Amino acid sequence: MPIDPNFQTTRQLIEDHGEHKVYGPAEPPLKFGIHGAVVAVDFEVCIADGVCIDVCPVDVFEWMETPGCMSPNESGQAALEEKKADPVRESDCIFCMACEVQCPTQAIKIIQP
Ligand code: SF4
Repeated sequence: MPIDPNFQTTRQLIEDHGEHKVYGPAEPPLKFGIHGAVVAVDFEVCIADGVCIDVCPVDVFEWMETPGCMSPNESGQAALEEKKADPVRESDCIFCMACEVQCPTQAIKIIQP
């Protein structure tokens, strides 16, 4: 299931993580929420494919360790994903849309302020 494009109204803002917001629920190690409000990544949808990190021209993302995190893989089965693409520099985003378009599980939503 892709990221909910309306997450800012359907989910609760629970904390700041570095320079970006996190929308809940977050119950590590199973749930880590949605990270980012401009470059938003649903950590329950992210399968650590890494294409976003590869294609971003301004290095918005960094791997975040998520030990023990279980996420559905592309077949819908539970799989261990011990890292997630965290949008640590979302304020640097130039809205090229490459990450959102190329993410294989549609875990990313770009929201221009
Ligand atoms: S939209 Fe483009 S610049 Fe922004 S995070 Fe995605 S790949 Fe990087």
